[in-house]
Amino acid sequence: MQQLSLMDDEEKPPGSPSGSVVEEQQRGMVRPRALSPRSESFLREFFPEATINDWNNWHWQLRNRIKDFSSLSRIIQLSAEEKAQLSSHSMPLSITPYYTSLLDRWNPDDPLRKTVVPVSEENNILPEEMVDPLGEHSNSPCDSLVHRYPDRVLFLVTDFCSTYCRYCTRSRLVGRRLDTFLWRERWERALSYIETHTEIRDVLISGGDPLTLSEEKLFWLLNRLRKIPHVEVIRIGTKAPVVLPQRITPVLTSMLKMFHPLWMSIHFTHPKELTPETIEACNQIADAGIPMLSQTVLLAGVNDNVEVLKRLFHGLLKIRVKPYYLYQCDPVPGTSHFRTPVEKGLEIVSSLQGFTSGFAVPNFVIDVPGGGGKIPLFPNRILGRDGNCLILNNFEEKQLRYPDITTPCKN
Ligand code: SF4
Repeated sequence: MQQLSLMDDEEKPPGSPSGSVVEEQQRGMVRPRALSPRSESFLREFFPEATINDWNNWHWQLRNRIKDFSSLSRIIQLSAEEKAQLSSHSMPLSITPYYTSLLDRWNPDDPLRKTVVPVSEENNILPEEMVDPLGEHSNSPCDSLVHRYPDRVLFLVTDFCSTYCRYCTRSRLVGRRLDTFLWRERWERALSYIETHTEIRDVLISGGDPLTLSEEKLFWLLNRLRKIPHVEVIRIGTKAPVVLPQRITPVLTSMLKMFHPLWMSIHFTHPKELTPETIEACNQIADAGIPMLSQTVLLAGVNDNVEVLKRLFHGLLKIRVKPYYLYQCDPVPGTSHFRTPVEKGLEIVSSLQGFTSGFAVPNFVIDVPGGGGKIPLFPNRILGRDGNCLILNNFEEKQLRYPDITTPCKN
């Protein structure tokens, strides 16, 4: 097979491995439970030397990420598009063994496989695509911090993810080893900005994936943030429960719940991700009192289908995750094969509204290029006016009238 050139990833993940599996199990870092039949047969076939405890250890999952095409080709049969040479700007390849076990080995059209296995279409760069489509750099008062909205900031605490999504908005940053060594200095600068800006009441910790950091680093960071009186809410943006559910340990959730009110935004893509492992991880997070919201990018050939998304959103509600955002895919270089027309998102939302519980329907948003912020888009329900009456269109496309009249105040 042709050897492909991808940028190499970090040799060592930021969550520092420590001790034996037995020690980690005693500390609550490894979940002592049986494997799903799928995971077990995958483990036996591709990691015959590893134990169930290894598989359930998130450090083992990080150490054994699939990071090159030759390792990947031992597990899945690569198509011609997947074998193609990628350009040097492409994101690194990295997939946890757990998430690899969810991929269809024989079918390149498998929706999950499309999201994590590079294909030759990534070489198609369109003129309107942008390295920093959300203009985060221009709204960055210091390294690691984006201050776009008045009362909240985005704190990019790491550039590392266990598994890289091929359509990542921050492909310019993630996996680039930019902050491997200077994290403490960067965090201090960001924290001092937050301390001096009393209007900031909401901090979203993101990256990269913050839950790839060790408990010690997370504790240090959350503890510092919690000491800032005007920071009311802390949110963590992560994909760990989906690609690395082993990360959600009793030690982690016990530590996180010390910093309430703490919310979690989880990146979900497809109902195939709702495995017993991910369901158990979300249950642990919910039991720690952490409210969860989902974020999903609308992706052509992956999830641009009402029935697929309805299954995802219904499944999320069952595990106490509120479907929150459905994003139009950002114009990142090499992602045109993922983008759907904006009408597709509107069509999906209008096929859900009224046909299922209101809280199962996320907001469909475009994050406007250049730092304009998120703009929610809605199917048009106002058809016009007839005198004082609004003419509305309901979910069944029936035209209905609403008397838009208020009684004048009597003084
Ligand atoms: S998990 Fe998020 S930050 Fe990491 S590669 Fe995927 S989209 Fe990008």
